[in-house]
Amino acid sequence: MNCKTEDFEQYDVIVVGGGLGGLSSAALLAGHGYKVVLFEQHCNVGGYASRFCRKAPDGDPFHFEASIHTIAGCEEDGAVRQVLREAGAEGDVEFLDLSQSCMKIVISDRVLNLPTRQEEFMEMIAGQFPAERRSIERFFSDLNRIWDLLPATQSKPLFDEPAGFDPELAHRLSQPLSTVLSSYFLNQRIFRYLYLPISYFGINLSEIDFLKYAVSLREFFQARSYWILGGSQTLSDAFAGAITRHGGKVETCCKAKKILLDEGRAAGVELEDGRKVFSDSVISNADASSTFLEMVGEEQLPSEFIRSLKNMTATQSFFQVYLGMDDSFQVPEALRNSFEICIMNESGDYPFVGLTNYTLLDPSLASRNRQILTIAVPMRTVEPDDWGISSYHERNEEYRSRKEAITEELISIVEGTIPRLREHILVKEAATPLTFQRYTLNKNGSYLGFDICFKRLPQKTPIDGLYLAGGWTEPHAGVMGVIISGKQAAELVRSYIGGSEVNA
Ligand SMILES: Cc1cc2nc3c(=O)[nH]c(=O)nc-3n(C[C@H](O)[C@H](O)[C@H](O)COP(=O)(O)OP(=O)(O)OC[C@H]3O[C@@H](n4cnc5c(N)ncnc54)[C@H](O)[C@@H]3O)c2cc1C
Repeated sequence: MNCKTEDFEQYDVIVVGGGLGGLSSAALLAGHGYKVVLFEQHCNVGGYASRFCRKAPDGDPFHFEASIHTIAGCEEDGAVRQVLREAGAEGDVEFLDLSQSCMKIVISDRVLNLPTRQEEFMEMIAGQFPAERRSIERFFSDLNRIWDLLPATQSKPLFDEPAGFDPELAHRLSQPLSTVLSSYFLNQRIFRYLYLPISYFGINLSEIDFLKYAVSLREFFQARSYWILGGSQTLSDAFAGAITRHGGKVETCCKAKKILLDEGRAAGVELEDGRKVFSDSVISNADASSTFLEMVGEEQLPSEFIRSLKNMTATQSFFQVYLGMDDSFQVPEALRNSFEICIMNESGDYPFVGLTNYTLLDPSLASRNRQILTIAVPMRTVEPDDWGISSYHERNEEYRSRKEAITEELISIVEGTIPRLREHILVKEAATPLTFQRYTLNKNGSYLGFDICFKRLPQKTPIDGLYLAGGWTEPHAGVMGVIISGKQAAELVRSYIGGSEVNA
């Protein structure tokens, strides 16, 4: 194939996908003078880091956050700030520190604080399980010894094999969390409390190994959480603005269909509208399986790579309910200062029900001091036919009634904590895992890319000139992780092209 003539659009770099991984890589490259274009299939950028609007019956808007609850790496020298600064967009984003808004846990009729300091966290658990105090101290003393040995993980894959551990400790770290916890504690109810800080993984305690637990718990105690004024869309728009300010292009409603190759190397992208655009460097921010199996094509890749890719399963998704509340709605006193509330459900299908009070910190998301609440539960969708539909974008009566039934069930659970919530709802919307897939094309609405038991795919792919950025690749998913991946992808492209400042 040799079609790079003057008649074709030619770029230094093409980015497929306008999630934060794609946007940050494109913004950095545009800032360094590269001719960049980013294609986003949806009508606005951001992927999961997006906002949408629904109007109350009186026409006043509620601006709902699509997915994200808290963001790490936003302190002055944090990774998110550093990348924004390098892209020339730091001034477009205002960060809100969440450290004053302690997360609350609701268990039956009790409300507890979820402390982010280790000693207070231990005290909280010991208060609930006095007979286990000694074991709690022993458990954390062992964890501290492990934390001292583990390398820093913020910009590295979170779950790399630890090197140089003695065989006994290495064996312990590879055991399922439930097995390790059983060796310390008699009362199994304590397991859920110890798991609470990382319950967003939404997986069974026997599916996560002790190493991943230890690493994630250390992150919980070390990292500060932030929110962004206007929501995560502001962050996405800041990167998109930086791309265009530096002369790059952002094309929305524009789906990439194929990654074009020339003698096995990346050569450009074919769009669904039939256009072909050319570049020797392509960054894919799209779902990894669709990048390799659909856009590149199995036949172009080593069979071992394809085999292991097909074996890797994805993290679960979420079912989320978005509520716009009326003027008289009040959160109960005990929960009023909490941005995030976790209802621990002792029985039933939803053991952790997360509530986020977005307007607590950012009243501009609704008018007249009205409030926005979202309810979120982790949910795995195996295939669309579980929902009575044949593909992720089809919608029918069975799908709608299932969605409505889950929405009502979740509102009822929350009414156990916020009585008569239902009577104050002006706007109600919900997203299933298939809604998340529809807007981001991530299979089954997976929220953190590959399941955490798999090593993440390297950003440099088996195809020369094709790189990955985003939640499916290194270092890890989550807002901070994908922004770091965007920076790393930009650096890989710059050294592939030759490291020189072009078109500056
Ligand atoms: C419900 C939920 C809650 C979350 N909560 C948090 C949280 O509190 N804190 C946190 O740090 N992280 C959270 N996450 C995870 C975080 O949102 C993601 O890890 C991160 O935003 C993913 O970014 P990404 O760069 O991988 O892109 P994605 O957001 O996955 O976006 C990919 C983009 O590529 C586009 N695309 C795909 N294929 C194509 C194509 N062929 N052509 C053109 N465009 C294409 C999609 O439309 C999409 O815009 C949450 C995720 C979910 C779903």
